[in-house]
Amino acid sequence: MKLAWSAEDEAFRAELAAFLDQHAPPEAVEYGRHLADESSDGGAPPELLPDWARVWQATLFDHGWMVPGYPPELGGRNATPTQTLIYLSELAARDVPRSLHFPGYAIVGPSLLEFGNEEQRGLAPAAIRGDAVWCIGMSEPNAGSDLAGLQTRAVQDGDTFVVNGQKVWTSYAMIADRCMCYVRTDPDAPKHKGISVLMIEMDTPGIEVRPLRHITGAAEFAEVFFTDVAVPAAHLLGDVNDGWRITTGSLAHERGGLWVPGVARCRHTVDELVGVAKARGLDADPGIRREIAALYEEAASLWALGHKGFAAGAGGAEHSYMKLAYSELLKHQFEVGMTLHGPDGAVTSGEPGDPVWWRRFFASFAGTIAGGTSEIQRNIIAQRVLGLPRGA
Ligand SMILES: Cc1cc2nc3c(=O)[nH]c(=O)nc-3n(C[C@H](O)[C@H](O)[C@H](O)COP(=O)(O)OP(=O)(O)OC[C@H]3O[C@@H](n4cnc5c(N)ncnc54)[C@H](O)[C@@H]3O)c2cc1C
Repeated sequence: MKLAWSAEDEAFRAELAAFLDQHAPPEAVEYGRHLADESSDGGAPPELLPDWARVWQATLFDHGWMVPGYPPELGGRNATPTQTLIYLSELAARDVPRSLHFPGYAIVGPSLLEFGNEEQRGLAPAAIRGDAVWCIGMSEPNAGSDLAGLQTRAVQDGDTFVVNGQKVWTSYAMIADRCMCYVRTDPDAPKHKGISVLMIEMDTPGIEVRPLRHITGAAEFAEVFFTDVAVPAAHLLGDVNDGWRITTGSLAHERGGLWVPGVARCRHTVDELVGVAKARGLDADPGIRREIAALYEEAASLWALGHKGFAAGAGGAEHSYMKLAYSELLKHQFEVGMTLHGPDGAVTSGEPGDPVWWRRFFASFAGTIAGGTSEIQRNIIAQRVLGLPRGA
């Protein structure tokens, strides 16, 4: 067996590297390095979508590097799946994010292309390029893991749907131009069968957005309230009551490659932990050496497993395992980082150079919840990999 990239793939990587060397803005590199620290700590909250990020996403699109597997008109260059893996790995190695708002290019764009009519498919380039900012209105106070239980109601009245209800944890709602909103159109049908998807302009009268600040101090998601919001029937995506198909399709998009930046962050964090141990004179402590070595081993194994799964054409259950493993590993790594700092690890003076591990630790819980909680991933693995019966 030959474990090497082909000459064509190496040429692809070299072209990408040259592009990134020339175009990646310093803010993107800086942002990537401090990805886990994003939060306000008494100071002003970080801007959700700064100008440099908008320009960077558009630059990637215009050069065919936004979603390389797509054709040029959609911000790509018809790259192969292997080349897409190389692309994700190269960005992760440099800590460069391609976008600061994932819903548009990762969920909305692919969903419009798969389920939209011709006019709706025409909205995809702007969603992928970041010219239009989208949010995803799935979760509700009583419908998160059990998404099919959603109750936001849409009643058709001629050429209009009238929407009433509430969404929660809606990322980027405060800056979004549009919402891809999951609504109940048939309350009498079995719960998976009465859902539709509407594309709602966020400046429509009757929409109220209330930002939610989380434990790290940052506010990147919001509650969204809909009161008699009139939505043109032409803004229905797919067929009425066929929204569940779109839901599962939307969530599958891009999930396959998510492990790359996730596991890369775990690997970078191990390097940082080594640095902290050295700086605090703890690098000769046998217990700490063993702990960090185990974290290294786990991150390296996940990196290898991800590549093996990619080569074997891994599906949804394998992706559930990767998501579960790297999000829980990262949480553990940040906890170790806090511990290495001793009592200082749990407090901050707000001065530059302060330990940031507590912030990272708190923020890391989000990764074990967003996109399906760890418990839900375990359920999927139990049922689909181990063949265990469904719980009561
Ligand atoms: C950073 C972040 C960004 C997000 N962005 C968005 C967004 O843009 N749009 C959007 O719609 N949503 C978004 N969400 C919401 C996210 O999808 C939900 O938080 C998630 O699906 C869990 O739903 P919930 O919070 O209602 O928890 P619940 O479903 O109420 O779960 C509560 C607890 O019960 C456990 N649990 C629930 N059901 C089961 C079960 N069957 N078996 C075992 N345990 C179970 C869960 O694991 C969890 O621990 C975001 C969340 C986060 C953290």
